[in-house]
Amino acid sequence: MNQKIEIKDVTPVKIHKPAGTDSHVASSRRIYVRAVEGVLENTRRLFGLIFMGLFAIAPWIEYQGSQAILFDLYEQRFNIFGMTLWPQDLTIVAYIFIVAAFALFFVTTFAGRVWCGFMCPQTTWTFIYIWFEEKIEGSRNKRIKLDQRKMDFDKFWRKSLKHFAWVAVALLTSLTFVGYFTEIDKLFVDFFTLEVSFWAGFSVLFFTFCTYGNAAYMREIMCTHMCPYARFQSAMFDKDTFTVAYDSGRGEKRGPRSRKMTSGQVAAKGLGDCIDCNLCVQVCPTGIDIRNGLQYECINCGACVDACNGVMDKMGYEKGLISFTSEHELKGGTTKIFRPKLIGYFVVLCIMTGLLITDIMLRSPLEVDIIKDRNSLFRENFDGEIVNVYTLKVLNKSQKTRNFTISVVGLNGARYDGETTVEVKGGGVFTLPVSVATMPENITERVTEFYFRVQTTDETGNIIAVEEESKFLYTDV
Ligand code: SF4
Ligand code: SF4
Repeated sequence: MNQKIEIKDVTPVKIHKPAGTDSHVASSRRIYVRAVEGVLENTRRLFGLIFMGLFAIAPWIEYQGSQAILFDLYEQRFNIFGMTLWPQDLTIVAYIFIVAAFALFFVTTFAGRVWCGFMCPQTTWTFIYIWFEEKIEGSRNKRIKLDQRKMDFDKFWRKSLKHFAWVAVALLTSLTFVGYFTEIDKLFVDFFTLEVSFWAGFSVLFFTFCTYGNAAYMREIMCTHMCPYARFQSAMFDKDTFTVAYDSGRGEKRGPRSRKMTSGQVAAKGLGDCIDCNLCVQVCPTGIDIRNGLQYECINCGACVDACNGVMDKMGYEKGLISFTSEHELKGGTTKIFRPKLIGYFVVLCIMTGLLITDIMLRSPLEVDIIKDRNSLFRENFDGEIVNVYTLKVLNKSQKTRNFTISVVGLNGARYDGETTVEVKGGGVFTLPVSVATMPENITERVTEFYFRVQTTDETGNIIAVEEESKFLYTDV
């Protein structure tokens, strides 16, 4: 009975507290990112420019007289450079998602979260916003002081200009994004002349708000607490995955020292190569200290690598105290590039890409739907023929107007009664009621299968034909 019950402290700890900030800053949970220069920073800028450029330019490209990329939700069709995807083309959309997923798995297994650090729009837009912050409010230390200061004219105009720039970027981003779903040139004109439709206007304002909120305020919170990718990435990591890591064997014991100290003096003090300058923490957009080991908040942006390499350079030490490396390499081994998991992802990626290309190549620019009239199974006309009625839908999946000829095959003595040639606009659907008749002696079964043949020719003169199965009913056999 005298046995004491062990008490465990379960006080909740802060989920995220930016490292390396003073008490005032830490309490506000604000991360003041310090600007950094280096190879990886330049690479990220290049990637950012390429992806942003593509994002901004793509909806303005015209192809065959219309917007090359248009995801028309109202008409339920996606136009991509002359190819129109309909809800019936779900397999292509599914293949695109599967290919994208396996590409991501492959890249993550090989090089960790480089997608997050170099290509993710959240990171790209966050860095754009930080760039404006830096240009308008100054360096990291100046920004911290500015925030601590009471409002004055200087602070007011800097803050106002920064928010104006952020809102302008958010608005342009949103207009471009919505421009993928509606005619972009008309959207820009209508929006700025206040003649935009309710839903288009609402979408633009909604995505402006989202962009501004994400890049200005959510920033690392989105990456660390909301993005699902951060949660399941660990399933793809292995000991040969290249990720940003600190070489503690080389860096510890960390500590400041004079640049003039010889290597012998440094060794005598038991110091490693880390001079504990905290720069790697100050440049980190997620506010972590990579020296504490691999953390799920790390987006592999490499900013700390650039910062530390700069410090190593100044100190006259070898670069690479923080680097893209694998766990095996950190422990003195070598990285195994060709490993079953990576090869597996690559093989599946190739197979799915092949299936996607095949599906696109074999995709018919024509689709036919046939609906049997449900009001009467059949009727007999004055000539004694048995007549079945259908509704035919001819879907022109190309973007050009085409003529389609319609006929019936596979039914003895069949007489097709309806338009034999129809003109259908690119991306249009033509619906026509038709009937098929034949004499009773030609029918031997209560249900006879036959085909509607719809045919057209493409630009090169090739015949494109679809034979869609249907049923002819006659119950008095
Ligand atoms: S620890 Fe380094 S690589 Fe990871 S997010 Fe921070 S700066 Fe980027
Ligand atoms: S930047 Fe390099 S030297 Fe400075 S604290 Fe980080 S790891 Fe140590």
